[in-house]
Amino acid sequence: MTRAIYPGSFDPFHFGHVDIARRASALFDELLVTVFDAPAKRLLFSTEERIEIAREALEGAQNISIVSYSGLTVKWAQQHGVRVIVRGIRNVDDLSFESRIDMANRQMAPQIDTCYLLCSPKYVYLSSTILKEVASLDGDVSHWVTPHTEQALRQRFAERKR
Ligand code: ADP
Repeated sequence: MTRAIYPGSFDPFHFGHVDIARRASALFDELLVTVFDAPAKRLLFSTEERIEIAREALEGAQNISIVSYSGLTVKWAQQHGVRVIVRGIRNVDDLSFESRIDMANRQMAPQIDTCYLLCSPKYVYLSSTILKEVASLDGDVSHWVTPHTEQALRQRFAERKR
């Protein structure tokens, strides 16, 4: 039984994330999408909101669950019987960044490996940052997120404008 995690900020979860989560869930017995509670970024959504958005986007997926976590990813993974960390790669910048994290992680937890999935071409330019920028300017984001997530984005930016 191989348990894998797909960690991230997921602020919010978009179709690039859905694609990686679904493909990873076909490779491992169990996939936990782990939502990091305190990334060093200014967040648009709370941890609970990010979990709820990811749950809705992944509804119906058999072996995927969504949970929050805090602290070091590898430490959490060790405490929860995780063998594999999944990360999505869009370009060489992602690869370069991830390879440095990978080295540090393996130093701390040599028994845990990271599995990289190249993102699908149609999401190669998509990031939560671009998504939020477009949504904040009232652009169409319907090809990047579910209608539920789109609504959550619209509502959050409307609240901010008040
Ligand atoms: P981070 O975890 O670095 O804060 P995110 O939460 O946005 O960043 O992303 C979580 C994971 O999803 C990372 O492995 C990231 O590379 C991957 N990812 C982000 N955007 C995409 C995309 N468009 N397609 C595939 N994977 C992506």
